[in-house]
Amino acid sequence: MSDEPYDYLAGLPLLPRVMGEKKKTPRSIAVVIESSCTGCRVCVPFCPVDCIETVPEGEYTDTVIPPVRIRYNECIGCAVCVRACEKLTWNAIEMVEVDVFEAEHGVKVEGPRYGWEGIKDDASQGTPAAEMLAKLQAEGKIKIE
Ligand code: SF4
Ligand code: SF4
Repeated sequence: MSDEPYDYLAGLPLLPRVMGEKKKTPRSIAVVIESSCTGCRVCVPFCPVDCIETVPEGEYTDTVIPPVRIRYNECIGCAVCVRACEKLTWNAIEMVEVDVFEAEHGVKVEGPRYGWEGIKDDASQGTPAAEMLAKLQAEGKIKIE
């Protein structure tokens, strides 16, 4: 067995320094599995379009800590949040095909909105996950045991 410490951040994308916006209708969008979500908010800063939010107080009464939810019309379907949740905390987000989502919820997912420029994927434009997580922990915005 290797003595190397396990790199639990390996494979995680960089966090966006500048939030983008949606350019085209994605094939699938992220959906939070409420019964699995701990409400830890670790996934929130990873979203390149900042469309993950905590379910407001009063709208969710099942648990002390409310889960997060995704504003489906803004999601670009990048699945970054799925990887962040799976790697860092739990496994509480799944990708759902837009057609299936629309049929299940009786809604129409909007097309391009603002001209998203793409996920920032080099170090000059993105923030390494470790750096951002350390900052968020220092600010008391998230807690990772
Ligand atoms: S990282 Fe996963 S468990 Fe934590 S708030 Fe996001 S979806 Fe919920
Ligand atoms: S799939 Fe991408 S755009 Fe959609 S909520 Fe997750 S991180 Fe945000």
